[in-house]
Amino acid sequence: MSYLDYSLTEVLALLNQGKVTSEQLVNECFERIEETKDLNALNSTYYDEAIKRAREIDSARKQGDKLGILAGVPIVLKDNINYVGTKTTCASKFLENFVSPYTATCAQKLHDAGAVVIGKANMDEFAMGSSNENSAFGAVKNPVDPTRVPGGSSGGSACTVAAKQCFASLGTDTGGSIREPSSFCGVVGIKPTYGRVSRYGVVAFASSLDQVGAITRTVEDNALMLNVLAGRDEMDMTSADIEVPDYTANLNKGVKGLKIGVAKQFYSDELCDDVKNSLNKVLEWYKSEGAELVEIDLPSLDTALAVYYILSSAEAASNLARFDGVKYGRRAEEYSDVVDLYFKSRTQGFGKEVKRRIMLGNYVLSSGYYDAFYRKAKRVQKVIRNEFVSAFEKCDVLISPTTATPAFKLGEKSNDHVAMYLSDIFTVPVNIAGVPSLSVPCGTSSEGLPIGMQIIGKHFDEATLYQVANAYELAHKEGQ
Ligand code: GLN
Repeated sequence: MSYLDYSLTEVLALLNQGKVTSEQLVNECFERIEETKDLNALNSTYYDEAIKRAREIDSARKQGDKLGILAGVPIVLKDNINYVGTKTTCASKFLENFVSPYTATCAQKLHDAGAVVIGKANMDEFAMGSSNENSAFGAVKNPVDPTRVPGGSSGGSACTVAAKQCFASLGTDTGGSIREPSSFCGVVGIKPTYGRVSRYGVVAFASSLDQVGAITRTVEDNALMLNVLAGRDEMDMTSADIEVPDYTANLNKGVKGLKIGVAKQFYSDELCDDVKNSLNKVLEWYKSEGAELVEIDLPSLDTALAVYYILSSAEAASNLARFDGVKYGRRAEEYSDVVDLYFKSRTQGFGKEVKRRIMLGNYVLSSGYYDAFYRKAKRVQKVIRNEFVSAFEKCDVLISPTTATPAFKLGEKSNDHVAMYLSDIFTVPVNIAGVPSLSVPCGTSSEGLPIGMQIIGKHFDEATLYQVANAYELAHKEGQ
């Protein structure tokens, strides 16, 4: 058994007992990265820096120094998270050579907790996509079946954890980008409550929806990561000043007496049979453990996808206006005047999907259409949010499939944008409502592909998500 087969929590115990060193772990991770490089999960790696830091942590540990709670554990960041001195490309030609001048708060917190950052994960360009095929540096493959997509946009982050190249990674989720790939790759991914984790230093896609979260192989690992990441940050005014509980505290409390909401809108005809069967079994299992299943109605859920593509594209169009060839990133080599410089730099630097979003965003914000699209979508967002808030008066969590099908084939949806957008149908409502949601593996399809369930909770109630997920994971460990 390799050390890479252990979970983050297990390997931390081994580190603390002196049974393994951080240097050994970093070396094993890099061997695995080399063996599995065809997956194309990582855009950059930092072997020399990682080894140096691992040795420092090992010697501090030997001397009995007080160490952070993640001391010595190799982790990976999504390539839209700044980490000083490293490239942050957002998988875009525009930022191909951009080096971070500072570190994002989420990365700093991991660093301060002693994590060893070993690289940055591939992604869909500027986090726009559901398959990781929109990367300027090539698609990522699903480690379970390399003819399939890993999901997106945090496809590299999910892939690197599932392929055991590291013990945990960070992703970002604007409409499902942590949960969909986690579900496709068979790992655990959280989209925290909007405001739970600082966005400072994370390249913005849609600022009112973006959240940073962790991807791990177990629920316990994920809870531990959120312990490090969560909290108010003076540098992000949208980060919430709400106390951070110990997310590992309720892990073993079971689900007896908890109310699990089941909204019929999440169990539509679009679900493939394997997903439907897995979810039915999940719900039966929770019932047998003493949870109560409660029927919930979310009548506006089917409007969430349209709302999402209007709001996220509008925000993207304005956030991406800063990439103009002047301040940072790519600059066209030849241009006649400043307008031509903007035009050529943006034409050359952005990929097709990003351009599509910018056009869509500028359209819905343009005068004459603003009221019909943007303003209306903002109003419908309120309705969706209220429906979730009322649902949580009747239940503690909602459970739904993360996606309607397991991972699809590479290329299968590349030319059908609507089909691609529909892969997020169950994940986007969560971002629209701002509530937290955890995707957890809950079975395997007849073709051997992972299936994920999504456990959705009240604003700032991630602890209950971990409690509900851990009960299931503990009881189903062997089968996965
Ligand atoms: N797939 C969705 C999109 O393309 C969600 C992306 C995300 O969460 N970053 O916008």
